[in-house]
Amino acid sequence: MMRTYLLALLLTCSLSSVYASDKPNVVLIFADDLGYGDLGCYGATQWQTPNLDQLAKEGRRFTDFYVAQAVCSASRAALLTGCYPNRIGIFGALNPSSKVGISEKESTLAKVLKPQGYVSGIFGKWHLGHHDKFLPTRHGFDEYFGLPYSNDMWPAHPTARNFPPLPLLDGTTIVENDFRDQARLTTAYTERAVAFINKHHQQPFFLYAPHTMPHVPLFVSDKFKGKSKQGLYGDVSEEIDWSVGQILKALKKHKLEEKTLVIFTSDNGPWLSYGNHAGITAGLREGKGTTFEGGVRVPCLMRWPGKIPAGSVSREPAMTIDLLPTLAAFAGAKLPELPLDGKDIGSLLTGEGKSPHAAYFFWWGGELQALRSGKWKLHFPHEYRSLAGEPGRDGKPGKYVTKKTGLELYDLQSDPRETTNVADQHPAVLAELKKLADPAREELGDTATNQKGKAVRPVGTL
Ligand code: MG
Repeated sequence: MMRTYLLALLLTCSLSSVYASDKPNVVLIFADDLGYGDLGCYGATQWQTPNLDQLAKEGRRFTDFYVAQAVCSASRAALLTGCYPNRIGIFGALNPSSKVGISEKESTLAKVLKPQGYVSGIFGKWHLGHHDKFLPTRHGFDEYFGLPYSNDMWPAHPTARNFPPLPLLDGTTIVENDFRDQARLTTAYTERAVAFINKHHQQPFFLYAPHTMPHVPLFVSDKFKGKSKQGLYGDVSEEIDWSVGQILKALKKHKLEEKTLVIFTSDNGPWLSYGNHAGITAGLREGKGTTFEGGVRVPCLMRWPGKIPAGSVSREPAMTIDLLPTLAAFAGAKLPELPLDGKDIGSLLTGEGKSPHAAYFFWWGGELQALRSGKWKLHFPHEYRSLAGEPGRDGKPGKYVTKKTGLELYDLQSDPRETTNVADQHPAVLAELKKLADPAREELGDTATNQKGKAVRPVGTL
């Protein structure tokens, strides 16, 4: 009896000491293919995003936040490991025939936070390998519910043939072999996310909510059908906003607002060939699948009452690779032993700090195409895809053509749309920026210069 009492006391003490500490819960909401101009707080007027706009009012809006590559798997690899995808060998968008995935040697946000007592759940799209050994619960997550890869990799794809039926997973178990009712997804992910908060509100948690939407094919539940009066894309955006609201409500219910850092961002810019089923870039050049701003610059909101000043804006460049070291620092967690590319940007969140990076680099696959340093963006000569003419409509894609850019310099402060190459006016800047790329090529390689990166690590294989 006495022993049970002591044990209970001990457990309570250890729980409350964790609870009382400063370690924030982390809620990371990741939309798929949502554009820079898709939220009210980034200028959208076509549809309503009141919950996300409120998040901006209560937290910080980042104007110059980037993903590492403008495509699903590579972008997620960077987000979860703090590395450029090139370092860990994850490129493009993995598909049902892929035999690779995240290596067991790599750390993820969930793995890094675990020794600090965090429980981690992912409710949504994984896309870092669909075979058993690559699944989230093999990489630090305690719970997983969702799709293993993109929702268009299924038999109903508008142009590609031979995709197998789409599986829906719970943990490592396929709970539906031939999942078709995608209108259920946003609601189902949200319910699981809220249940996770309800279940784990007394210990530190990491909730990762990577939505399948608004990646095509678009689906929305009946409660949002026709609601935006702006077509399916607007309805889907409003449902994602609703989902954010449900998660914020759950945090409020458990009085966790001040103990929780909430982050909302997107994996890449809009898939422009889908026309009215794609998002908007707010005038940024090009979209998903390119290293122009419309592809790699995404909306990013962070809220942590008492730590992040409410209603503030940061115009410093930052990237998803920085989240792992930043969140590790907030949680008092040890960094992985293998080298990272991201840096702690805590002072960009809570204060008026400056970016600790001399430059951010933008590879497309293995080709180093561009870099951002301060207000400057340098493009090395490269090919890119651009709409051939009118985009597609109602779920059918339009055609792309291949275009070329030369060695071009843009001043993003005065020209965020990358319209005017000013390389000739700034030869010194050009020379300095070109030099910044040399160590990056040496470390992580560049197919354009036939360089193999000496710090590249092997991708996970079966
Ligand atoms: Mg995407």
